Amino acid sequence: MAILIDGKATSFAMKEELKVKIEAFEKENGFAPGLSVIIVGDDPASAVYVRNKENACAAVGIKSTTYRLPGDTAEEELLALIRRLNADVSVHGILVQLPLPKQICEETVLATISPNKDVDAFHAQNVGHIMIGNYHFLPCTPAGVMALLDRYDISVEGKHCVVIGRSNIVGKPQAMLLLEKNGTVTICHSRTKNLADITRQADILVAAVGRANFVTADMVKEGATVIDVGINRLPDGTLCGDVAFNEVEKKAYAITPVPGGVGPMTVTMLLYNTLTAAKESLK
Ligand code: NAD
Repeated sequence: MAILIDGKATSFAMKEELKVKIEAFEKENGFAPGLSVIIVGDDPASAVYVRNKENACAAVGIKSTTYRLPGDTAEEELLALIRRLNADVSVHGILVQLPLPKQICEETVLATISPNKDVDAFHAQNVGHIMIGNYHFLPCTPAGVMALLDRYDISVEGKHCVVIGRSNIVGKPQAMLLLEKNGTVTICHSRTKNLADITRQADILVAAVGRANFVTADMVKEGATVIDVGINRLPDGTLCGDVAFNEVEKKAYAITPVPGGVGPMTVTMLLYNTLTAAKESLK
């Protein structure tokens, strides 16, 4: 039986620690870190994510404000709101919930958020900082994966780390963070040939594909650590990851479940980034 890497318990513990840090910050500086969240349209999944972020902010003492804009909002209107928040000193973090409606260019929106307030770390300037290993913010999901490895004393150094997925949000930054910790990193993607031959070499396997039960036991080395970033909904409505948990768990040294693995860590890292942004605003 593999060690279950419990993201829910870890994120709870990290939020308790953060609450203490935020209390101390507020006492010293006379204001709480502030996060502005913008949601455009009424995508039900996005609405749930935003509500989770609001609740998590309230639980740790971050002052959050949510701007709910209609689905037909013009790009310029959204950009004007971001510019206003960029200039507002009581706002330390700005997050635009993705995806955005078709009439709005995601790239333009992300480029308009001040890099100092970019708590998702999606701005090209922050992505560049990650490449050179000199950063304030890390993208929340890969940072959450690194925090789980750290809290479970799973060393990356010298390990073969295989990341399946090369998105800008998960796969690519994940690979950079594993490399920074001295892992030997291979990135696999939809055009990779003989995928299972590569994943079977992984000491640490991170799946960020978006396909239910994609990673099966025959793709995993005995004793590997398996991190499942995927969030997929089955036809019956249940959530599952990219990893066929029941069969892989029998072979792995440690494994994250879905739900209750990487997912809860993502919001927690956003909260940490918001405190970092508030601290940076004082410099
Ligand atoms: P994406 O669709 O942008 O990227 C998927 C990646 O999988 C691509 O790079 C693609 O090359 C690769 N891929 C697709 N088919 C493949 C195949 N047959 N073989 C090998 N690689 C293949 O998705 P994303 O935004 O990176 O998200 C990935 C998953 O992680 C999704 O399920 C998403 O819901 C989930 N996610 C979870 C969190 C979290 O908080 N836990 C955060 C972000 C994304």
